[in-house]
Parts: sequence; structure tokens; C-alpha cells
Amino acid sequence: MKLLLICLDGVRADLVFPEAVAADPSFAEPDHPSDPRFGAGAHDGTTPPDEAPRPAAFAPTLRRLATGNALSEGRVIPMWMTPPTDSGPGWASILTGATHEECNVWWNEFVGHDLARNPDLLSRVFFANPKARTLAAATWDAFTDPAGPGPIIHQRVDQQRTGQHQLFHPDLRRGITAADAAVCQWASWKLLHEGPDAAVVYFEGVDAAGHKYGADSEEYRAAISRVDEHTRYLVKAVSERHEQLGEDWLIAVTTDHGHKAAGGHGEDEVEVRRSFLAVHRVGGRLPDAVRDASSLRSHQVMGLLLEAIGARQGSLDAPGLGVLTDIEPVGPTRDLAFEW
Ligand SMILES: [Zn+2]
Repeated sequence: MKLLLICLDGVRADLVFPEAVAADPSFAEPDHPSDPRFGAGAHDGTTPPDEAPRPAAFAPTLRRLATGNALSEGRVIPMWMTPPTDSGPGWASILTGATHEECNVWWNEFVGHDLARNPDLLSRVFFANPKARTLAAATWDAFTDPAGPGPIIHQRVDQQRTGQHQLFHPDLRRGITAADAAVCQWASWKLLHEGPDAAVVYFEGVDAAGHKYGADSEEYRAAISRVDEHTRYLVKAVSERHEQLGEDWLIAVTTDHGHKAAGGHGEDEVEVRRSFLAVHRVGGRLPDAVRDASSLRSHQVMGLLLEAIGARQGSLDAPGLGVLTDIEPVGPTRDLAFEW
């Protein structure tokens, strides 16, 4: 099974999936407490304003993916982020299966990160089968740009040389909206014509609008509409491959945090911590792993998706594996059995 993971930065689950959030108790409150160091106090109580357009009007693709149809099963799984709810730790956790402590990503600067020892989802697919073809396209340079912070997605230059691993980072000089559109154009062409085995595509526009205008704004909802339409292009591409070639695709969509009414994130408000993993299998029933999941934390996403597509990791375990240990400067042995 092939995988398309779409990463939408800063989307409030209660705005795009209002019925699911209202109906599923797992969406009501976080499933684990936050560290008080990264808290901001109580629930901020944000609700969509009365004048907001009907939710279906601004995220029809996301809702259609989550709802599914007679041929294609879909659902949305509640997910809770662990503060700090900055983008860096959120996406690093989602894409590597590591907690903030394990990958040592706490802020957007990624200083002293341990991503080299916590490979990303695409690398894991490659490790499961070195013939796998992968691609990533992202507006934020922390995903794919070797000159950016991180990057979270490993470069794997040997595979890049032969086109087996492709990375795209757009020109940001014309702004985030144009850059998101460039990511969509590049990724949808590649998905349609090349059909990689696993792909990660990231859009930043909703987060940018949330910071500038807040979650209770027309601009924020308009930004959700734009990335929803980008998502439709990507879904259209893989659906066409399913129809023509019979390819089996699992599509997943997630976010790293919500936004406060007045904009911003990083702390522990319910609206900020609440996330989702929407899953949809084109032309088939969902794999058991994602059909059975009830509520997730961000570091569980990668393992769940790998299990769903059948990408099994090898195993090598030994005492002290991966621990760097120097010898004492006590001189050479006199035991002839070890004297060389
Ligand atoms: Zn973010």
C-alpha cells in the first residue's frame, strides 16, 4: 500500500470537523496532562463566531476524506499534542515517532536535536524496503531544506542522486500563499505521474493566517479553504492512479496544533493541543491499525501509519547499542590473548 501524508500546519480540529469533535468524547479534553512549564492556564473557550460560514463550505475535501463513501472508507481519529505546542516539536514528533525528549526538539530552532538517530517516516519506509521511492515537499524549510533548521526529513543523498528520494522547497520571496501553491503544483504532478511509494506534503498557509489574524477570523477560514483545495489536488492525483493502475493508496491528513482565538500557539490550551489524524483508503476499507485506533498522541502517528501500510522495521538490539563509550587511557593490555 502506498502512503500520502498531508501535513497542514495550525488547523483547528473543531472548525474543520465540528460534528466529530462534538460527538467523540476523546476530542473533549487532552488524554494526558501538560508539563506546567509549557502551560498557559485554563481553556480559552474559543468558539467559532456566529457569522462563520457553515463548516462544510470551507473544508469540503477534509470532511469528504474523513467521511468516506461506499467504495472508500475514511475516518478522523482524535489526537492530542504534548506541549510545548510549537511547530518544531509537533512535526518532529509526528514524523519521527519520537517524543520531544527522544528527539530533543523543543522549539522551532531545533538546537541540539537528535533527528539523526530518529529517522523520519519516509526514511523508515526506505529502511523497510530499500527499493522504495519517496518524496517530500514543504513550505517550511524545517522539513526538507538542508540549510533550514532540522531538517526533519532526512536528505538521503544517494537516493536523491537517482531520483529515488525527491525533496522540494519553494521560493518564499513571493510569500507563504504562493509558496504553498508551488508545493501543491510540484507534489500533485509528481504524485500523478510518478506515484511514489510514500510522500509527505506540507502547507503552512493556515498557520501564517492564524498568527496574523487569529482563529476567529475570515482570513483564517479562507486559509483553511486554500489548503483544503490543495489537498483536493493531491487526492485527485492519487485517485486517478487508483482508477487507471489499480494502485492502493492510504491518504492521511494531520496538523501539529490549533490556534487561539486571537492567534498564536505553543502552550496547553485545549483548542491548541487538540489535533486529528484523518485517514482515507482510496477504493477500499481502512487497514485494521487505523480503523481500530481510538485516540492518539503525536509520537504514535508514524508507527501507526507504517503498520497500516505494512512497512515493518528490521530488528537489532544489543546491550549498549548506540551508546558512545570511550576507553580509559590505561595503556595496552599484557594479556597475550588480546595482544595484537
Ligand atoms: Zn505549527
